[in-house]
Amino acid sequence: MSREPIRGSSLGARSLSSDVGIDLEARVVTVFDCSHCSSSFTVPFAAEAEIPDAWICSSCGAEATRRGAQAKSSVDENEKVGKTPFEMLLERRTVAELEVILEERLSYLRARRGLDSDAGKTRNTAQSRLVR
Ligand SMILES: [Zn+2]
Repeated sequence: MSREPIRGSSLGARSLSSDVGIDLEARVVTVFDCSHCSSSFTVPFAAEAEIPDAWICSSCGAEATRRGAQAKSSVDENEKVGKTPFEMLLERRTVAELEVILEERLSYLRARRGLDSDAGKTRNTAQSRLVR
C-alpha cells in the first residue's frame, strides 16, 4: 500500500470534473395536466423511457394525466391498483410453502408459551395442578 495521504473534500465541495465533452441524454419534456387543481407542469424524461400516462401533481399531490394521453380503461386501473400484499406474497411463495412457514411459526410461538399443542396444553395444566 502506498503511503500517500488521502485527499479529503468538504461535503459542499463542487465536483472537479467539467461538463466539457459530456453529451447529456436526449430528453422529452412531457406536459401533465392536473384536473384536481387545474394546473399544468412539465416533467423531463429520457428519450427512450416509457412515459407514464399519469404523474403526481407537483402542486396538490393528486394524479395528473399526461397531455394527449388517452383515457385509461377501468380494467387497466384495476390491474395497477389491485395488487394486495397477499398477492405479492403469492408471487414469491406457494401456498404449500406458506403453510409450512405458518406451522413453523405457530410451533415456535406455542413452544415459547410452553405449549407444544392442544394435547400438551392439557398435560401442562394437569402437571401444574399436580405441582400445586
Ligand atoms: Zn394538482
